[in-house]
Amino acid sequence: MKKSSSTNRILPVTSTKSGTTQLVADQVYGYTNQIVNAYFIQTNADLNEWVLVDAGMPTSGTKLLHAAERLFGRDHHLKAILLTHGHFDHVGGIVSILERFPVPVYAHSLEIPFLTGKKQYPEPDASVEGGTLAKIASVYPVEAIDISEHIHPLPEDGTVPLLTDWGWVHTPGHTPGHVSFYREKDQLLLAGDAFVTVKQDSLYRVLTQVKSVEGPPVYLTTDWDAAAKSVKQLAALHPQIAATGHGQPISGEALTSGLMELAEQFHERAVPSHGRYVDE
Ligand SMILES: [Zn+2]
Repeated sequence: MKKSSSTNRILPVTSTKSGTTQLVADQVYGYTNQIVNAYFIQTNADLNEWVLVDAGMPTSGTKLLHAAERLFGRDHHLKAILLTHGHFDHVGGIVSILERFPVPVYAHSLEIPFLTGKKQYPEPDASVEGGTLAKIASVYPVEAIDISEHIHPLPEDGTVPLLTDWGWVHTPGHTPGHVSFYREKDQLLLAGDAFVTVKQDSLYRVLTQVKSVEGPPVYLTTDWDAAAKSVKQLAALHPQIAATGHGQPISGEALTSGLMELAEQFHERAVPSHGRYVDE
């Protein structure tokens, strides 16, 4: 079985929420690992079954499974993994989780080449303004992982395997096959990095998790026009709760007005004035 994991570099930054789980909405829990969030969705309480959305930083697999144990009990059963996209900070723990639970992994078909060793993400752009985090981004690993034996494309009809009341939306820009997951009944949005709720280029805000609706992390976003369209598309869903790849969940008026503003002023608010993927 060929599996390769990204390098095990440990980032020198950890948010104040790192290692904690919190209830985001009915049956949905958020887990913060260093600077990134993963989400646990309970699918069957009687059988302790759950689905994981995104898989944290490199080496976080064991921590994610311990968190699941605390939430769902020692005999919990992971049934599937859903990926918003394949960046290293969203798949870091996936190889070790798959060793314990060889479950299907679902991602957009355009993201699959990055998850099967066929394509590598472009180098992070450390030349964008944004100080420390953009600089740290330049040491982030970009090597593709290979989970060929587990990966499947998300169903074309917009449904989500195992999660009957959820749908997925293609929200490219941050990556070509980036998706967001949406639950109609409570207008809950898991947006990955299509937008985030912490200003990623401010180390202070990342560490303290001050909340605001912000564009996708600049140093890894390659298609800003697509990213702008994706934010508009998500705003049109009128989510009531949004939980993103970075930052804390946000809801109500702060979300509605924040997301509307970001959609309307995307280029001023989110797109860096210069940088490798802006000038090209
Ligand atoms: Zn990302």
